[in-house]
Amino acid sequence: EFKENTIIVVFGASGDLAKKKTFPALFGLFREGYLSPSVKVYGYARSKMTDEEFRDRIKPYFETPTEKSLELVDKFLALCSYEQAAYDEPEGYQVLTKSIEAFEAERGVTEPHRLFYLALPPAVFTTVAEKVKQYCHPGSRGLARLVVEKPFGRDLKTAKELQAKLAPLWSENELYRIDHYLGKEMVKNLIPLRFANSFLHACWNNHYITSVQISLKEPFGTEGRGGYFDNIGIIRDVIQNHLLQVLTLLTMERPISGDAEAIRDEKVHLLKAIKPLDKKNILVGQYSRSEDGKKPGYLDDETVKPGSKCITYAAIPLEICNERWEGVPIILRAGKALNEGKVEIRIQFKETKNGIYQNVSRNELVIRVQPNEAMYMKMNIKIPGVSTDVTVTDLDLTYSSRYKKFYIPQAYESLIRDVLNGDHSRFVRDDELEVSWALFTPLLNYLEGPQGPDPILYPYGARGPEPLSGFLEKNGYVYDARGDYQWPVTTPD
Ligand code: NAP
Ligand code: NAP
Repeated sequence: EFKENTIIVVFGASGDLAKKKTFPALFGLFREGYLSPSVKVYGYARSKMTDEEFRDRIKPYFETPTEKSLELVDKFLALCSYEQAAYDEPEGYQVLTKSIEAFEAERGVTEPHRLFYLALPPAVFTTVAEKVKQYCHPGSRGLARLVVEKPFGRDLKTAKELQAKLAPLWSENELYRIDHYLGKEMVKNLIPLRFANSFLHACWNNHYITSVQISLKEPFGTEGRGGYFDNIGIIRDVIQNHLLQVLTLLTMERPISGDAEAIRDEKVHLLKAIKPLDKKNILVGQYSRSEDGKKPGYLDDETVKPGSKCITYAAIPLEICNERWEGVPIILRAGKALNEGKVEIRIQFKETKNGIYQNVSRNELVIRVQPNEAMYMKMNIKIPGVSTDVTVTDLDLTYSSRYKKFYIPQAYESLIRDVLNGDHSRFVRDDELEVSWALFTPLLNYLEGPQGPDPILYPYGARGPEPLSGFLEKNGYVYDARGDYQWPVTTPD
């Protein structure tokens, strides 16, 4: 299914993303047979390095689960080379194109297929996009694809400015805006889960669902790298992009087909139906030193502005104004330095009404995106044995026990494979980006403006800011601390 003799160029190849994600993903695809050995991969950056030094730099991050995969490392590295050059001068691009053309000529390629990956900070995005178009694009002879990484601007205005610069150079069809959450297995699963299961489809609405939460919890703080985060905050970092993307797939209407544009049309429709965010009904926090004093507070990070009000925790309720969702409280929440690391979707259903069973726990469907992909539905059954009382249990699908021999690609592997195949369905379209910024920009302006509230301090390692439980309850979530729900289940011998 892959195109032979594809050219892949990674700009910013000396950087963190290239080393930790892009090249390991390319190797992962190669290892699993999803990247042809006929490809040629170039790393491009300003840092001085030989090909060997470059290969030594990326190699330690490759995953090699089997003996056989170890043997593939050198085979893959032999396909990679490095070019040291500037981003803002033509020479480097011209040298690169010469080399690409020599490779293509040698292989008899008549329709070039070139993929350019910008693993670069936003300051140089447009310069490189422009030069690549000018010097490295094969024109109408072949295909070129440009992969760009977040941040796509920092608010509506800057996102539009970035788009205005890119659009004349690269068509929407050539652009792939990566949001790596869209490459995660359980996020990819949302469309089949919703539209291939009639029992779920039947209750996927405000008649049955009373609350939706999408939560991202990180167990670590900025750990000395807060300088970057301090200008961004948790909303831009993970909520406006990752969590909102998950929300669109979870709540959009059924696309008219499985085509990328049909899916993205529905995502945009959904985003347009979200009510403006209520500035008064949000919970924002910043972590302080842990209770035992061992873990630093956010402001102890020396790379952070002294006295910074930057938000490291946010819980943001929103409401979708359409027939399916009107009245259902939805909460997006994310935070750093919390008690655990997880990403999950939690959907709570209505309580049973006036029948034989009252006051039993609500059904809850949990889709755990990470760690350890799982899906479980909390439900009520008779306590096994002589009792006729009701207890909570779960219908459980834990991937690691159900699917032992499956290769689940890393998010970046999955998405790069999509780019190679020209599949846009898991990439963010320009109009989608615009609506998502339009939704969050007023809230960000308020939080960062003179009227912005002081974030509530929570100690490193807490579940969140102290008012969290009450806040979730106020916004529709019923926490059921019955105490007889156990996980993992421990059965006596
Ligand atoms: P990075 O390491 O700071 O930068 C990548 C490379 O770009 C550097 O090695 C450097 O290479 C060059 N560079 C850095 N600053 C520059 C500047 N001011 N002007 C010109 N060149 C500069 O960044 P990264 O962490 O790899 O991230 C790359 C992009 O991916 C960013 O947009 C980031 O937001 C996004 N991203 C990163 C991650 C991650 O895990 N790191 C995750 C998601 C998204 P030379 O000096 O050798 O040219
Ligand atoms: P839980 O940990 O009991 O949490 C349920 C929900 O209640 C979460 O949204 C949680 O928020 C919130 N919450 C926790 N403490 C609260 C409090 N004091 N007041 C108000 N809200 C509170 O989750 P669970 O689904 O019942 O699962 C229990 C454990 O079993 C988890 O560790 C889960 O991973 C495990 N389990 C695993 C599998 C599997 O691997 N297949 C299946 C079933 C259960 P926060 O997210 O902010 O904590």
